[in-house]
Amino acid sequence: MVGKKVIITGVPGVGKTTVVTEALKKLKQEGIEYQSINFGTFMFDVAKADGTVNDRDQMRTLDRTVQKRLQQRAAQEIAKIPGNVLIDTHASVKTPKGYLAGLPEWVLREIMPDLIVLVETEDDQILMRRLSDDTRSRDKEGSKAIAEHQQFNRAIAAAYSMLTGCTIKMITNADFLLDRAADEMAAVLR
Ligand code: AMP
Ligand code: MG
Repeated sequence: MVGKKVIITGVPGVGKTTVVTEALKKLKQEGIEYQSINFGTFMFDVAKADGTVNDRDQMRTLDRTVQKRLQQRAAQEIAKIPGNVLIDTHASVKTPKGYLAGLPEWVLREIMPDLIVLVETEDDQILMRRLSDDTRSRDKEGSKAIAEHQQFNRAIAAAYSMLTGCTIKMITNADFLLDRAADEMAAVLR
């Protein structure tokens, strides 16, 4: 069987990585395996090698054309990975000059996902999660700006489904309900 390509998106701090980790634990017990990779890490490896940045959170402030080049290189590498692949990335990236599509046509054409998951939750919960995470340079923004970003991600996901024919699944990762989100994630990955 050919592998499934699943793209996991959600605004920074929503808990994509956490939900994916829990879902993959559940699936492993059933003998279902996915290779989980992070799109940003592939971009960052190229950027570091070029000497463009030294912190992954600096990439979104680079010139648009530089981000596009890193994005393209990452997509080409990721496309080579065989089997079931889960790609942790962003439907859109908030840059100083506006939203940048995370999955423009030249990325989708390489990866051709079967499914795009939007991990979402209430804007205030995202705000609190960002404030309590010291490991990353998260954008300091209010819940209105977070709401706008989540809305934009739904809108742009519709465009991605038009380009690829993939399905779009929204999963809520609410406070204290991680297990429910992980169950929903596992269900769409089966
Ligand atoms: P993350 O660790 O998922 O927050 O990703 C780190 C950084 O990688 C993001 O802030 C973006 O600058 C970049 N990045 C990740 N995925 C994409 C993408 N699909 N398109 C453009 N930039 C991306
Ligand atoms: Mg993450």
